[in-house]
Amino acid sequence: MGLADLLGSWPVWRQLRGPDRLGLSQAVTSPATQATASPTAEADHVAASVCPFCAVGCAQRVHVRDGEIAHIDGDPASPVSRGRLCARGSSSLDLVAGPARETTVKYRAPYARQWSQLDLGTAMDMIADRVIAARDASWQERDADGHRVNRATGLAALGGAVLDNEENYLIKKLWTALGAVQLENQARI
Ligand code: SF4
Repeated sequence: MGLADLLGSWPVWRQLRGPDRLGLSQAVTSPATQATASPTAEADHVAASVCPFCAVGCAQRVHVRDGEIAHIDGDPASPVSRGRLCARGSSSLDLVAGPARETTVKYRAPYARQWSQLDLGTAMDMIADRVIAARDASWQERDADGHRVNRATGLAALGGAVLDNEENYLIKKLWTALGAVQLENQARI
């Protein structure tokens, strides 16, 4: 290695001789850093999206490469989040492509120790059957004072924090139409 190369490998020298006089960028990057490519650099295309985790609605950019999601980051064009994502939003890639993600319906029968797998149609029918049975069994047309209440006290709904405003709105409409009065969301607990 010649003297010029030797000096050039020294960050202080690069800082004194180059444009990065404060040593905040190029002057202090290591060869390993310089050889590292951003996961967004080689995307085939970038799709605009919204973080699904809460109702803040931070905007995301979904970087796609070879038909797979390569990276998800914040969208600087968003007036809501201005490129920022919180820890949950930053982990969105795992939500989509994480190896621990469940992609089939799991069912644990009463007293069973193991989960079994159901097809979606069977699971939906089982849920509908149980909702109808619980509603029929607990339906109250009038309370003890004779006031009309039309409610099903055997139904309750607990929403998760990944539900957004629109989903919660529809869930509230559905359960209220069924007569449920105990409706709650994880975000309020
Ligand atoms: S979970 Fe975080 S990143 Fe996602 S919308 Fe809410 S605040 Fe924004």
